[in-house]
Amino acid sequence: MVSIATLGSHSALQILKGAKDEGLSTILICQNSRKSFYERFNLVDHFISVNQFSEIGHQEIQQQLMEYDSVLVPHGTLISSVSLDSIEQMEVPFFGNKYILRWEADRNLKHKLMKLAGMKVPRIYNNPEEIDRPVIIKFPGAEGGRGYFIAKDSKDYLKNINKMLGQKLINEKALEGVFIQEYVFGVPAYPHYFHSPILDRTELLGVDRRYESDVDGLGRIPANQQLELMPIPTYNVVGNIPLVLRESLLPYLFDIGEGLVKAAHKNVPPGMLGAFCIEGVYDNINRFIVFEFSARIVAGTNLFINGSPYSQLYFNEPMSMGKRIAYEIRLATEQNVLDQITT
Ligand code: AMP
Repeated sequence: MVSIATLGSHSALQILKGAKDEGLSTILICQNSRKSFYERFNLVDHFISVNQFSEIGHQEIQQQLMEYDSVLVPHGTLISSVSLDSIEQMEVPFFGNKYILRWEADRNLKHKLMKLAGMKVPRIYNNPEEIDRPVIIKFPGAEGGRGYFIAKDSKDYLKNINKMLGQKLINEKALEGVFIQEYVFGVPAYPHYFHSPILDRTELLGVDRRYESDVDGLGRIPANQQLELMPIPTYNVVGNIPLVLRESLLPYLFDIGEGLVKAAHKNVPPGMLGAFCIEGVYDNINRFIVFEFSARIVAGTNLFINGSPYSQLYFNEPMSMGKRIAYEIRLATEQNVLDQITT
C-alpha cells in the first residue's frame, strides 16, 4: 500500500489523521523546530527533516519519498514555499493536478477559468482610470491579503497608491502586477469540494468563513476612529469559523463546483482532481460572486476533522477532507488506477 506524505504545516494533522484512519502509513516532511509539535500526536510513521520546505524538491528527498512509495498531498504551505517549476519537476506522484497551480497563481488566468466555469465574478479593471465603483486592490503574491486596500474611485486609488509608495509599503514593480477587482458587498463563504474521478462525482464536504485580522476586528473600534486608527486593514487569516448555508443556496454551489470541474477538464488537463475550494461573497439578494478558487485542500477544512453537516450526507462515518483524500488514494491503489488521481 502507498504512503501519504505531506509538509508539516497548514492542514497536515488532518491529512495524517485521515491517512491513518484509512490504514495508510504516513510521512511528514518537517522543519526541526516543528518536529516536537507533530510528535505529540501519534500520526507520523516517518519524519523527513528539512531546514526549509523548498528542500522537498531536492533529489535526495524525492528519492526517499519514492522509496516509501509515497503520494504527496499538497496544501497551502507547499504552494507558497515551493516554486511551481520545482513542483512540476517532482518525481513523486502528486495528489491532484499540479498543472492547474499556474492558473491558480495567475489572477488573470484564474479569473478566466472562473468565467468559463459559469461563475458570477467581480468586474476587473485593467486601467485604474476606469474604476467606477468600490474596488479591492491586490498586489502580486500578497499573502494573507497584506497590503490589500479598498478604493471608492480612481482618485482614491491613486491617493492610496502614492501613500503606500511613500511609506515604502510597495515598490514600483509591485504596481506592474496590481490586480484591481470590484469589491463585493456582502458576507464571505468558502465551500469545500472534492471531485472524485474514481466515484465520478463532485461532493460538497463543508463550508467555512474566515476570521481575518484586521478586518474582523474593525468593529471593535468606534466607527469614527476606524480610519484614523486602522487606515489600511489587512485580511490576514488567523482561523476559520464553520458555516451552514440555507438549503436553497446549495443547488447553485453544485452548479459552479461542477462547472469548475468541467472547465478545468477542458482547459487544464487532467482537470480538477480531488480537493478544491471556491471563495466568494453572498450579496443581499443571495447571489454568490466568486473572487477566488484553490485547487487543493484549504485550511478551512480543519474545522471538520470529525466530518461536517454535508459530509454526513454522503458517508455513514466521520469524513474529513483529509480522510476523503486518503480514501480516494486507497480506492485508486486497490483498483490500480493511481495515475487517474495524481500528476
Ligand atoms: P484573497 O487573498 O483573494 O483570498 O482575499 C483575502 C480576503 O479579502 C478574502 O477572504 C475576502 O475577505 C476579501 N476579498 C477578496 N476579494 C474580494 C472581493 N472582490 N470583494 C470583497 N471581498 C474580497
